Amino acid sequence: MLGWDEETKMPPAGAEARAEQRATLEELTHERRVDPDLGDLLEELRPFEEAHPHDSFEAGVIRVARRDYEKAIRVPPPLQARLERAGSLGYRAWLRARAENDYSIMLPLFEENLELRREYVACFDPKGDPYDVVLDDYEPGMTTAEVEAIFDRLKERLVPMIRAVGEAEPVDDSCLRGSFSRPAQHRVALAILEAWGIDDESWRLDYTVHPFEVSMAVSDIRLTTRFDEDNIHGILSCLHEFGHGLYERQIDPSYSRTSLADGVSSAVHESQSRLWENLVGRRLSTWRFFYPTLQRELPVFCDVPLETFHRALNRVRPTFRRVDADEVTYCLHVILRFELERELLSGRLAPRDLPEAFDAKMREYLGLQPPDLASGVLQDVHWSDMSLGYFPTYALGNVVSVQLWERAEAALGDFDEQFERGEFAPLAGWLREHIHRHGRMFEPQELLRREVGSGMDPEPYLGYLQRQLEELFGAVVA
Ligand code: ZN
Repeated sequence: MLGWDEETKMPPAGAEARAEQRATLEELTHERRVDPDLGDLLEELRPFEEAHPHDSFEAGVIRVARRDYEKAIRVPPPLQARLERAGSLGYRAWLRARAENDYSIMLPLFEENLELRREYVACFDPKGDPYDVVLDDYEPGMTTAEVEAIFDRLKERLVPMIRAVGEAEPVDDSCLRGSFSRPAQHRVALAILEAWGIDDESWRLDYTVHPFEVSMAVSDIRLTTRFDEDNIHGILSCLHEFGHGLYERQIDPSYSRTSLADGVSSAVHESQSRLWENLVGRRLSTWRFFYPTLQRELPVFCDVPLETFHRALNRVRPTFRRVDADEVTYCLHVILRFELERELLSGRLAPRDLPEAFDAKMREYLGLQPPDLASGVLQDVHWSDMSLGYFPTYALGNVVSVQLWERAEAALGDFDEQFERGEFAPLAGWLREHIHRHGRMFEPQELLRREVGSGMDPEPYLGYLQRQLEELFGAVVA
């Protein structure tokens, strides 16, 4: 709540006091999180847990609380505090280094944060790859080797796909550039989200510099967005945050105020946002239903045929910035970061050599040389505090989104027929039943095996991209 308020409502001069308030709350929460009494209680409850089925509320809530407790007590509070402090200094140095295009401002903070991250990893006494430790913070139970196998397969197929698109006829996306009224974009976004099920009772939409979603309870979901005058990205970003919000909105309400009442992992969370943003939000049938609304609010689209708009929305072209990337090139941005993170953590790559290593991979995978740090190595906030392990979950989210989509469509019938008629509730209901309501009851891979019959598998995603490229752009993928 303090974080949401900080980004949406707080006057700027409140920043310092807010940092103190957050630190105080964090300290108090952490004390309770690692309280030995909690450990004793969890031990006492072991026979009770074992007497209940694995998927019961009773067993689930104890199992997940114990997992959280055992991780939390591994990290000594002084190290936690140093990580916190270096992270916050790193964030401020990152802002300055970007603005001044000067890596030397960032370098000492990178070195300090990386050293602390290594100390953090050492607390867990990793038997295998040290990267497993940081990955587990975002993707419980998944190993680096599993991620690497998926990413190697993606790389093998995505590189020729990008080449094939480059050789196909270029797509005219000029209709997406121009001047688009912000209030009109807001009305279009709301019309779509209302058709997808949001209401004033349980949802809010506010403005922030960086869009995000946060929930206070299953009945209190907050989305934020930003609309720019010269493009309509803000509408798509609303669809993205909606996917996160719907997940939290549809968790079993009886889990409220327990360890179960949250998304199960970063990748599964991201699969929800990317499903609504891309698989639904960039789809022709979806826009057959919503295009008249867009044309009414932004009359400039009255002269643009729906098919032209749809092709422009799905244009594939390598870009410098990950957040601007299309569906095909996106994963390569993530894969190159994953590879660099592993090298940094293992010590094979020194922070001082990071910019050159980053640019070399950009040239190799995307054929682009970043012109400055803000379009290159300093473009993302995630490294300002060396939060390693998070990036891979973005690409894994794409992979999972198509696995779920195919399973849902097999159960519910052709989505295009439903979307053209404005029927989105069956898909939302399927996701509630199979993913959302479970919260953190199962580990992510366990959840997938139960609900789609296999762990994370890149093939459905690759098949989807290939069909998309062939049908939309006439690309010939080798
Ligand atoms: Zn997201």
